[in-house]
Amino acid sequence: MKAIEVLEDLKRRFPHEQEYHQAVFEVLESIEEVYNQHPEFEKANLIERLCIPDRIFSFRVTWVDDKGNTHTNMGYRIQHCNAIGPYKGGVRFHSSVSPSILKFLAFEQTFKNSLTTLPMGGAKGGSDFNPKGKSATEVMRFCQAFISELWRHIGPDTDVPAGDIGVGGREVGYMFGMYKKLTREFTGTFTGKGLTFGGSLIRPEATGYGNVYFLLEMLKTKGIDIKGKRCLVSGSGNVAQYTCEKLIEMGAIPVTLSDSNGYIYDPEGITTEKLEYVKELKELYRGRISEYAETYGCKYVANARPWGEKGDIALPCATQNEINGEEAKALVANGVIAISEGANMPSTPEAIEVFQQAKLLYAPGKASNAGGVSVSGLEMTQNSERISWSTEEVDSKLKWIMQNIHENCVKYGTEADGYVNYVKGANIAGFIKVARAMMSQGII
Ligand code: NDP
Repeated sequence: MKAIEVLEDLKRRFPHEQEYHQAVFEVLESIEEVYNQHPEFEKANLIERLCIPDRIFSFRVTWVDDKGNTHTNMGYRIQHCNAIGPYKGGVRFHSSVSPSILKFLAFEQTFKNSLTTLPMGGAKGGSDFNPKGKSATEVMRFCQAFISELWRHIGPDTDVPAGDIGVGGREVGYMFGMYKKLTREFTGTFTGKGLTFGGSLIRPEATGYGNVYFLLEMLKTKGIDIKGKRCLVSGSGNVAQYTCEKLIEMGAIPVTLSDSNGYIYDPEGITTEKLEYVKELKELYRGRISEYAETYGCKYVANARPWGEKGDIALPCATQNEINGEEAKALVANGVIAISEGANMPSTPEAIEVFQQAKLLYAPGKASNAGGVSVSGLEMTQNSERISWSTEEVDSKLKWIMQNIHENCVKYGTEADGYVNYVKGANIAGFIKVARAMMSQGII
């Protein structure tokens, strides 16, 4: 297998899917050597079977707004690979959603889920529906319309959706409600559910907390203490909020947050009290991060990202390709020592190259943000057993999983000079398990 040839073939067969090509090539490059040590993989054409999703559902979603106008959006579900467990992955509602973006996310999810040690395959879904400015009843009607089509293709042992950008506890609740009505069954088909109907403690916090647990493991390899480190965080949604919460608890100082309109820089640090304000602003009022700057009198920069600010650690927690090569160079020039990705694929290939050339501690999202899906996996276990674990139990399992992922990255990603290439480590560790499972199950 030659990574570049597989990429060229995928580009020919699936043109205009830039994000999908980008995600696939990153993995292929990392696993090329290991893959080629196994002629049986090539004989079974494992690579194509792993790059191309098992199936893609696309459908029209029609809903009525509060004024009685009828709208249509596109809905999708990509079931990428179920070699090691039921399809599992979030649902994204954002105007930028396209098959390419969901294909990249489902592909990444397959390797990430493999890394968690839990039995989950990879999937992703979503819609180009834009929840901004929509009332709660409009969001509810949209979720119901979305599920009235998708429900046939999901189930607790088939495909288990969860949240992602634009989809939090509220939306999961609406989707679960409609699913339950249509199937007449109360099952653990969604994760990220409310605590009163089968949700797991720590699930909302899991991606952000897990991101910081992974960061702590990376810092430990260099004997660096997180206390007092100034952190550049992007985004201000679920992952950014709980990344900040854990950073503050660990004694670090988050100084930035952002949304799609701009970023704030608070030199005095985002405290617990200020973070509570952000949670309310985003969850309750669905406001803009610029309002933080007005409330606390700090700097706000419109239409920009925070990577030009000075900080010790960068934690991108908004969206894909939000750090480009130039921004990565600025981070390095400003003395950043570690980058831990809360978002999926937030760094472009050029940015990753800059971080790795500078021998920084750089964690790709598929390793460092795996805490979210890990606790989703724990939610599935609790639902199957019809029990609930305590906060301490779930949190200690989450910590253990993140440490385990880190260990695997070090095992498979340590290079001759001792530098840990976390991208390579995560990709190889994730790939090997899926490949072995696929080989055992025959050509299907
Ligand atoms: P939320 O919807 O809660 O928050 C997303 C944040 O990112 C918002 O602040 C949003 O700003 C900002 N954002 C979204 N799109 C863009 C864009 N194109 N440009 C700039 N800013 C943008 O989502 P999550 O916090 O759940 O997800 C954030 C990232 O983490 C995503 O990459 C997601 O795939 C990843 N992730 C999430 C997991 C989870 O458990 N939720 C698990 C693993 C990964 P605005 O409000 O203006 O839209």
